[in-house]
Amino acid sequence: MVYDPSSDIQDYLIFGEFGGVNPSITDSSTFTFLSPEKMQEAFEHEMEGCFLYSRHWNPINKVLAGALSRLEGSEDGLVTASGMAAISAALMQLCGQGDEIIAHRTIYGGTWALLKNFLPRFGITVRYVNILDLEAVKAAITTHTKVIYCESMSNPLLEVADLPSLSRIADQHALKLVVDNTFSPLLISPAKLGAHVVVNSLTKFINGTSDCVAGNICSSHDFIAQLTDVNAGASMLLGPVLDSFRAASILKNLHTLHIRMQKHSINTKYLAERLEARGIKVYYPGLPSHPQHDFLTQIMNPGFGYGGMIAFDVGDAQTANRLMAEMQKENVGYLAVSLGYFKTLFSAPSQSTSSEIPADEQKAAGLRGGLIRMSVGIDNDMERSYKRIEKCFQTLKLF
Ligand SMILES: *Cc1c(COP(=O)(O)O)cnc(C)c1O
Repeated sequence: MVYDPSSDIQDYLIFGEFGGVNPSITDSSTFTFLSPEKMQEAFEHEMEGCFLYSRHWNPINKVLAGALSRLEGSEDGLVTASGMAAISAALMQLCGQGDEIIAHRTIYGGTWALLKNFLPRFGITVRYVNILDLEAVKAAITTHTKVIYCESMSNPLLEVADLPSLSRIADQHALKLVVDNTFSPLLISPAKLGAHVVVNSLTKFINGTSDCVAGNICSSHDFIAQLTDVNAGASMLLGPVLDSFRAASILKNLHTLHIRMQKHSINTKYLAERLEARGIKVYYPGLPSHPQHDFLTQIMNPGFGYGGMIAFDVGDAQTANRLMAEMQKENVGYLAVSLGYFKTLFSAPSQSTSSEIPADEQKAAGLRGGLIRMSVGIDNDMERSYKRIEKCFQTLKLF
């Protein structure tokens, strides 16, 4: 049977206080109790429909977390004020002094820096490997390893992780597989493929309007309960709370995610095929030339395409910069970091989103200076947009 998370989201019905078609926003940081005994009980354990304080839970945040659990096919979820908050809270909940994390060498720059520069202050260290090399993953496991960390579709080269195999390796060694699914919502379901914890930056495709920063963790009831534990939970005690008004607006955008992903994918595939036909080195998992194309086709949820991210190599950093300036001038989109916006965004990873990774390590991972990462918008007429891109390539004599 075809798995369709968007139908599960559609069927998630939470009405507003007066029968509103959208759930009500609870505009309160704190909640009253009818008796001191009930308040004490709320501190001791979670009670259905009972709220304590909005750093712990706010009703609309719970609704959004429920919808995101349906997106990821997980038992439970929680929302955070950013993707980085979700990643750091999940990892700090799972690891402590002396523990090790095995991570893919080209993960999102912020996560790379968190693992390399920040977590060592708390005695948590990282071993970077090529996650596609399962033997290298196994070889990196020690008695201190707690977590295998990767992105389902990596930033920026769009390598597709073999989540079922990584999950088996994790289970054999009693590790947790933590997967960042920011690049591939709906099309890849890491929890269904064996990930124990899924993290998302809602800032990108899931919200889709580039007007806020937010994040999410999806996992078992047990892990979400640990994170929100009043006395020992990373989410409760580090306190990265998402505002309730923002949770409400993200929830509304989530309901159009399937249509947006379909259009992002159609447009990106069109661009990938056109650029590849002109002899440009293109990284897009929807192209048969992509090394994990067949594998992704096997594991993905059909109907949403191969995603809205593409990378292409124009030779060197100077050419990449000139091309991006030209594309902005021709109104192709914006020279900006981030992704998943309804308009096209582009940047050169080696000088921006991956600049946290030192030059020699970038080189080893195949992250070249001439690489441009593009998040393709939902333009109605992609042929028209392509003509503009083509003109820029011609101006730079790349065609
Ligand atoms: C943007 C991004 C993050 C960080 O999310 P924020 O919402 O900016 O904190 C993490 N992982 C990936 C893959 C991202 O693209």
